[in-house]
Amino acid sequence: MPGTVFFDVDTQIDFLFPAGALWVPGAETLLPVIARLNRHASAHGIPLISTMDAHAENDEEFRRFPAHCVAGTLAQRKPEATLVPGQTILRKRHVDCFTAPELPALLGGFAARRYLVYGVVTEICVRHAALGLLRTGAAVHLIQDATMHLNPSSRDAFLDEFTASGGQLASTGFACGIL
Ligand SMILES: [Zn+2]
Repeated sequence: MPGTVFFDVDTQIDFLFPAGALWVPGAETLLPVIARLNRHASAHGIPLISTMDAHAENDEEFRRFPAHCVAGTLAQRKPEATLVPGQTILRKRHVDCFTAPELPALLGGFAARRYLVYGVVTEICVRHAALGLLRTGAAVHLIQDATMHLNPSSRDAFLDEFTASGGQLASTGFACGIL
């Protein structure tokens, strides 16, 4: 369907892998599905936006969370398997990707009517992305089997908030059926 954009949130080494500074337990198991989704988008000419935390060494956020994803470090990178041709990387310094000044123009350029959102952490950065994208008036599908949370009750609270706001829950199989 034209007007679909895949939105891959913060799938970076510091979050995905047990050796990462802010590992999300279980997130390492997402690598094959994230890679599959990104390859699917790339292969079918579906726009793919991948957000990336890119912090300064003493960023304000490190008062709330352990230092992570410092710009230019190896652990700030995305795993090789998630990198695909045609991907748009959006660097950000805050949990809310809508604080990145270039995001509105980027979304406007794609004229999306539907976003498929996945990545980490479900109840933090994925939440900000999904709710912000809903506010653009587009449909938003959360690809549940390609997300991971830190806290199950916070995740459940977000899922209630998301669906009450009109968001829809979907799977990688659904996403990869879109051509
Ligand atoms: Zn961060």
